[in-house]
Amino acid sequence: MSDYECDLLIRGAEVFDGSGGAPFAADVAVAGDRIVAVGPGLTLKAREVIAAEGLALAPGFIDVHTHDDMAVMAYDTSLPKLSQGVTTVVTGNCGISLGPTPLGRRDTPVPPLDLIATAEEYRYATFGDFLTALRDCGPAVNVVPLVGHTVLRARAVDDLTGPASAEETEAMRRDVIAALEQGAAGLSTGLAYPPAKGATTDEVLALVREVASFDAIWTTHMRDERTGVVSAVAETIDIARRSGARTLISHHKCCGEAAFGLSRTTLAMIEEARREIRLDIDVYPYTASSTVLIESFAKDSRKVTVSWSDPHPEMAGRDLDEITADWGIAPMEALARLRPGGAIYHQMDDGDLERILAWPPSLVGSDGLPRDRRPHPRLWGAFPRVLGHYARDQALLTMSAAIAKMTGQTADVLNLPDRGRIAAGAAADLVLFDTSRIRDAASFDEPTLPADGIRAVLVNGTLAYEPDISGATQAGRILSPTGAP
Ligand SMILES: [Zn+2]
Repeated sequence: MSDYECDLLIRGAEVFDGSGGAPFAADVAVAGDRIVAVGPGLTLKAREVIAAEGLALAPGFIDVHTHDDMAVMAYDTSLPKLSQGVTTVVTGNCGISLGPTPLGRRDTPVPPLDLIATAEEYRYATFGDFLTALRDCGPAVNVVPLVGHTVLRARAVDDLTGPASAEETEAMRRDVIAALEQGAAGLSTGLAYPPAKGATTDEVLALVREVASFDAIWTTHMRDERTGVVSAVAETIDIARRSGARTLISHHKCCGEAAFGLSRTTLAMIEEARREIRLDIDVYPYTASSTVLIESFAKDSRKVTVSWSDPHPEMAGRDLDEITADWGIAPMEALARLRPGGAIYHQMDDGDLERILAWPPSLVGSDGLPRDRRPHPRLWGAFPRVLGHYARDQALLTMSAAIAKMTGQTADVLNLPDRGRIAAGAAADLVLFDTSRIRDAASFDEPTLPADGIRAVLVNGTLAYEPDISGATQAGRILSPTGAP
């Protein structure tokens, strides 16, 4: 470093350190990929200085729920995240991961596996092969990779609508162990989806027990997020308790009018269970969900907008009602004609969303779908929406609490001790932003606009994003708390 004492000195920012505590004015020094000093009036000689008076500095946000398995392979497709201040993403959620390949027993990826990749893209024989390819690409953000249960089911199970046999479960168990040995940070399940619905509690438990033996994490898109959400939470708690695995309920929500208000019950159950077990939840800040075209989802929705359709790509962005009227057929018939495809379902209540988001332990995940032709705006807007709309404008929670949900709390849940904090020795994942201007620009009408108010994003000490400045970086790493990669 010659006569420099650090590479970068960020001067005079209002520091939100990720702990949830009050912000404080300080300078932050970075050398290599680490934060080396935090304090007022640092006099270190720096190669570069950023004057940050009037701006907030936070740890880079951790997107705990993504479907970015393909997106992280290239800088451009990482921009939806970098432009929000996200420096780490958890991939492989809802039972869907790019490795190991789900093909073999069948030659196409069954929905919802087609949400993240085509048959040609599902090309990695093992989970380790996926990680090797990812490492070779040089991701722009850090990646915490999960392996998906539905992928393992598609590999092992003959009849995906029913329970796995003992032999099939054993094959999945071996796959889980192999993936964890090769660097998976945990296992995800997507029990609400047709190819995993048939899995019994015991099947899931057998696999989650292996997760526990690696002290890895189990994330779950539960069996039911509608009127059955209470029993789905009970099943999740039961599996978490019996397995001992760290457990994360994905995108917690109550869908369909008949389920509105049930978050009072579910949060009380989760709070009670947290006294004995490690159980957390994440949430995205919208009252519309998005996934593949599913009848039950459409039936419970106020409005359905097509996000992609293989047979009818021109219908992306149009409402199912309009399409139905144009075609002169019943909505469910139109839906069948649009498949394979995806949609945005307006089907939740503000009261539940606000209750879940304001609940202090909840984490923030985008659940963005980067392949969608007309994506849900959460892909580009989830994090600034929590900070701008919910923390600053609605005062649903403090800016500090909102930032902790995206940083320190998430790093704790993921077992990443050197991420999510601004402190000497921590990784230099940082986001500099303007608290008075931060805002999600992406909307349902214009879903791919980058956030306002983000000034600079550093990944492992490298400047990875500034608005209006182009140039790809590859500073991300694969982070696996199980230690394998
Ligand atoms: Zn999901």
